[in-house]
Amino acid sequence: MPASVTACLRAELEQLFAQRGWPVFHARQVWQWLYRRHAGTYPAMSELPRGLQATLTHALPLTGSTVRALHQSADGSEKRVLTLADGETIESVWIPMGAHATVCLSTQVGCPIGCTFCASGAGGFVRNLSAAEIVEQVWHAGAAHPRNEINNLVFMGMGEPLLNWAQVARAIQILNDDFGLCIGARRMTVSTVGVLRGIAALAQDAPQVNLAVSLHAATDALRRTLIPHCPTSLHELMDALAHYYAATRRRVTFEYVLLRGINDSWRDAQRLAALIKRVPGKVNVIPYNTIVGGAFAAPSSENVRSFVEYLCGEHVTAIARRRKGDDIAAACGQLRRVLADGP
Ligand code: SAH
Repeated sequence: MPASVTACLRAELEQLFAQRGWPVFHARQVWQWLYRRHAGTYPAMSELPRGLQATLTHALPLTGSTVRALHQSADGSEKRVLTLADGETIESVWIPMGAHATVCLSTQVGCPIGCTFCASGAGGFVRNLSAAEIVEQVWHAGAAHPRNEINNLVFMGMGEPLLNWAQVARAIQILNDDFGLCIGARRMTVSTVGVLRGIAALAQDAPQVNLAVSLHAATDALRRTLIPHCPTSLHELMDALAHYYAATRRRVTFEYVLLRGINDSWRDAQRLAALIKRVPGKVNVIPYNTIVGGAFAAPSSENVRSFVEYLCGEHVTAIARRRKGDDIAAACGQLRRVLADGP
């Protein structure tokens, strides 16, 4: 028996019902009630026969995680701290945009990459998330906001998604299902520090999903100091991205965390422009968000603007990412395994 309904693809749930001798059309009803109407219990699924409600309540939990804490930002975004079945905690962020919303998802408990400017790796790496644990981050946010349709997902929370591609790919299939959340693959973005096998797998398995690549530096020497466990060199990475583009024809987003006095000069912008020109894409300049115990300084808004202008002067499409949720430690790089009760 699977751990929960969220652990199943729809076809697997239907198969399970068939094996148990439960009418298969009820599997689709369960799926729709869970994902479309955010039902949290079987008795809430009023079309299901009472007997089946009781059987399912005992046999197959709908979800496996619970919301342990909710932090609301003055800008409207929310961070949820979830407790998983084994007691581990992860965080995800819900970012409203008018009637719609984006959810930023974690893919691992902790992170093995250990970027020196990011809080997620500071507590070490514990384990990969299951597809169910990834899907439930969306489910909990959706259940709290039934009126805001979640139409964008970014795999940019805690962890390195391409080191957990099998489960991330499964979660994408579940989140994409027409009878459930129905979130378009083109509205999902996977962010990686540069896992070459994972980039090839993404092109092969989910060519419509967007790829974002965390660069942060245009030389290997600087990049290695910022990303100590980086799995690749810039040369190999750019080769892999050229292949990715040839296979998918999808433009890559390059993420560049701007750290004052470290990677923010005109020379840095020039090198960055030269490095990425082989691969059609755009640059997201992310002003550094301060983390507890961090050794870096945030750039001034003037800094950010001139860096973007340098890039534009080199004919690179670049924009500065707006900061969201930093008052509740929910901005890029601030998610972590919860160690204290503060945000
Ligand atoms: N491991 C993946 C997924 C995490 S994405 C990756 O590295 O891409 C998280 C994004 O936020 C990355 O672009 C990351 O570099 C950025 N980030 C991390 N720490 C940050 C900080 N303190 N301030 C701003 N951005 C940060």
